[in-house]
Order: sequence, then structure tokens, then C-alpha cells
Amino acid sequence: MEEKVHDCIFCRIIAGEIPAEIVYEDDTVVAFRDLYPVAPTHVLIVPRFHTETILDLAKTEDVDDTMARVMFAVSRIAKSEGIAENGFRFIANTGRDGGQTIFHTHFHLIGGAPLGEALLPPGSIKAPDDHPLSQVPSKGNDPVKPIVLPDPPGIAHL
Ligand code: 5GP
Ligand code: ZN
Repeated sequence: MEEKVHDCIFCRIIAGEIPAEIVYEDDTVVAFRDLYPVAPTHVLIVPRFHTETILDLAKTEDVDDTMARVMFAVSRIAKSEGIAENGFRFIANTGRDGGQTIFHTHFHLIGGAPLGEALLPPGSIKAPDDHPLSQVPSKGNDPVKPIVLPDPPGIAHL
């Protein structure tokens, strides 16, 4: 676990070298608005200590305290953003397939509008052809098929 990594954007935001709109901070985590929000509320909750991914954070002796502070921050920010009652999404993109772009462990808190049930836009992922997911219709990723009802008895087609 490293205190600060020189070329890491989030380490530099935490150090105050790059500006960000901070919405919450304590000794363990800093939370600031995402530069490219995908919803009315889009906050990144970032542990101060640099680890690359949640898997690296999980290997550290501070993981329990850090995750407790992250969850406390979720609760505080959800209330201050006014999204606690209606709900929100809490995500950790991890590694290449997880779509992680900044390799300093962080969590997205997203809300302020109905986000829908599908985790991803329909058709946005393609499972390998030999993967079981390719054989099974998946929630949110297939177009809705119309239900065709049989004609009631006695009605003839013209
Ligand atoms: P990831 O894709 O790694 O899960 O999330 C990284 C997030 O950081 C993205 O949502 C991106 O918009 C955001 N981001 C990238 N650069 C900056 C920056 O300089 N400042 C802030 N506030 N957010 C950033
Ligand atoms: Zn960092």
C-alpha cells in the first residue's frame, strides 16, 4: 500500500494538486463529483491510500476499516444528495473487463434519476459464443418479443 503515487490522478486530487468538487471527506476516504457524470448525482468515493483495484485493497490490513468508512460515506452522501429515499447504484469497476480506467481503487455512487433494472444498455455486451450466457436470454439484453394471442373462436380473417 502506497501513500501517494505521483502519476495517479486520484492521488493528485486527494493531495489537492488537481481541483475537484469534494462532497465528503474524512481521515480514510475522499468523495468528489465525477468529471463526466452519467446521472444527476455521480460521486466517486476514493480511499486516500493508493491501491490499484478492490482486489489489492482487499489484501491490505486496513481493508476492514477502509470499507467501513466507504459505507459510512455512502450513507452520508446519499442523504446529503437527497437520493437516500429513492435509491441509487453503487459500483466498483474492476480491471479490464470491468471497465476500470483509473487504477486507484474507487466506488461510483450514482443516482438522482430512475436508472432502470438493466445493469448495462441492451446489446452492450457480447459474451463469447461458447459461453452459457450466449445460449440463455438475459434480462435487459434482448428485445422484448410481442405476445401473439390466438384469435378467439368465431372470428374469421378477411
Ligand atoms: P472507472 O472507469 O475507472 O471506474 O472510473 C473513473 C472515473 O473517473 C470516470 O467515471 C471518469 O469520468 C472519472 N474521472 C476521470 N478523470 C477525472 C478527473 O480528473 N476528475 C474527476 N473528478 N473525475 C475524473
Ligand atoms: Zn492513486
